[in-house]
Order: sequence, then structure tokens, then C-alpha cells
Amino acid sequence: IFPMDKYVVCNSDEGEPGTFKDRHYLESDPHRTLEGALIAAHTVEAERIYLYMRDEYPAVLEILRTEIAALEEAGLCEPGFIELRRGAGAYICGEESAMIESIEGKRGLPRHRPPYIAEVGLFGRPTLNHNVETLHWIRDIVENGPDWFAAQGSEGHPGPRSWSVSGRVREPGVKLAPAGVTVRELIDDYCGGMADGHSFKAYLPGGASGGILPASMDDIPLDFGDTLFRHGAFVGSHAVVILSDRDNVRDAVLNLMKFFAHESCGQCTPCRGGTEKLVQLLEREGPLDEGLIRELEQVMRDASICGLGQAAPNPVNHLLTHFREDL
Ligand code: SF4
Repeated sequence: IFPMDKYVVCNSDEGEPGTFKDRHYLESDPHRTLEGALIAAHTVEAERIYLYMRDEYPAVLEILRTEIAALEEAGLCEPGFIELRRGAGAYICGEESAMIESIEGKRGLPRHRPPYIAEVGLFGRPTLNHNVETLHWIRDIVENGPDWFAAQGSEGHPGPRSWSVSGRVREPGVKLAPAGVTVRELIDDYCGGMADGHSFKAYLPGGASGGILPASMDDIPLDFGDTLFRHGAFVGSHAVVILSDRDNVRDAVLNLMKFFAHESCGQCTPCRGGTEKLVQLLEREGPLDEGLIRELEQVMRDASICGLGQAAPNPVNHLLTHFREDL
């Protein structure tokens, strides 16, 4: 390794519950993502591209092997310039610094920051990390310009987004809609309405950790920034899960907390112990110990190393705030 080596990493470890847009793009148009990665590598003069791929997508792995071989055969990149790495099923390896540890052959534990990976990343070198969807759009942006891309958003929310919509809607799937779309628009205009016999009760705006909001808050523009943040929620990977009157939010929250307890890497005590304890408190019969839950929530937010532990209490917080009838 020479002092100026730089790397590009493509994070294809799509593990956020409810998210399947990257899989959709890699299955339907894999070359576009690889082309975006090559343009990114050319731009920053990277020595190599590492593609970190979720191993639970075996069909996509096969597609990518074929596409990379075709690029090499066509002389568009040197053999070995794009290196495909398989993940091993850990949710936390979707976190960029944990992913980098994993590519280096170590256990996937998030790093403390600073330093950020743009300065000290893979093998200690400056690293540019993007996800599949970002790279997917690069060719169009190069050809049509950034204004074309931005114009596909809504007022104050530039650009289109790929929404993975699942749950109690008539037509779930990947929906290309403007940034800043509301959940009501996603359900009615993009998903054919609610599934038969279901009425809209609640939604997860951003996968497991983005919180759970009630149907009465169906007019919030979904995007990064403060529209959701002021309600203690975020849009994350744009995985929107729709719940109906047939779903119990306490049960859904318990399910999510078990997921976090299972996927916590265990490196720091507030997350390792806090997620386990929240599961125990939710499983206990009778009224919830709300004082203890709020105390745990605060400690996890303040003292966890990475976003998993900091955001894990979001669903519990919203259960206590918005869904008291389900307690
Ligand atoms: Fe690991 Fe959780 Fe700490 Fe993140 S917050 S480093 S997942 S124990």
C-alpha cells in the first residue's frame, strides 16, 4: 500500500428491516450501479473498489460476479479492480465503520469518530463510501445534470427517492416518488390504497429504528432534515412499513426491540444491556414501568457508541407517546 492509496466502498449490506430497494436495483439493472462506482473511483482516483454485498441475496451475488467479469473482459476495468466481499449476516455491518472493519477481516464493530473514514478509512486510507442507490443515479446525473435530478423532488426536498413500502397496503413494493412525499400520498397514489379490510393505523417512516407514528400524522413530508426529526423520527433508508387496525403497536415494538437486542454488537454497555432490558420490560405482564423505560432511553441515547443503540429506543418512545391504547 502506498501512502496516497484511496478506496471506494459500495455498501450493499441492505439489512434494515423493510428495505429492499437496493436488491431491486441490483437485480434489474446491476451495470448502472457498477458504472456509478467506476465513475466515483475515477473521480477520487481510487486504487480499488470494494463492493460489500449482503450474503442473504445469493441471486444478486451471482449477477454481480457475472457483471464484474463482463466489465473486465470488455477492458473497462483491470481484473480485481472491483472486489466483491460477502457480508456474514450482521445488521451492524451496514454501519460504515463496522463494514470497513469487516472488509479488513475483523469482527464488525463500529469505530469511534473522529477520525472519519474520508480521512482514515479502509486499511487506514481515505475512503469514499456510498450505497447502491446513490451510485445507481450517478450516470443519469452526469448525463442530465444535477438540476434535472433535484427537480424531481417536492418543494424544499430536492430529488427522487426509492421507497420500500411494505405492510398493509394493496400494492407493496419499490416506489419511485419525490423526497418529501407524505405517507398518505404513498399509500393512496403509489400503493393502490390500504389492503382490503384494513384501515390505516400507524407507520414506520424509516425501518426499524426510525420510530412509529400514528395515522393522524400522515401529512409530514418524509425526508432528511427536521420535518420528522422534530417528532423523534427519521426516514433512514426510506423503508416505510404500514400498520393497520389489526396490528397491536406494543407487539410490533417488542418485535423490533428483540431485533435490536439480537443485532447489538455488544461493544458498549448502554446498548448491549439497554436493548435486552427493554425487551424484558415489554414482555412483562401488566402496566409498563414507564419511569424505568424513560431512564433507559436517555442513557442509551447519551452513551451508545453508534446509531443502533442511540436510535433503538425510538419505537418504545413512540409507543408511550402515541399509542397508549395499545399498552
Ligand atoms: Fe455495538 Fe450497540 Fe454500541 Fe453500536 S451502540 S457499538 S451496536 S453495542
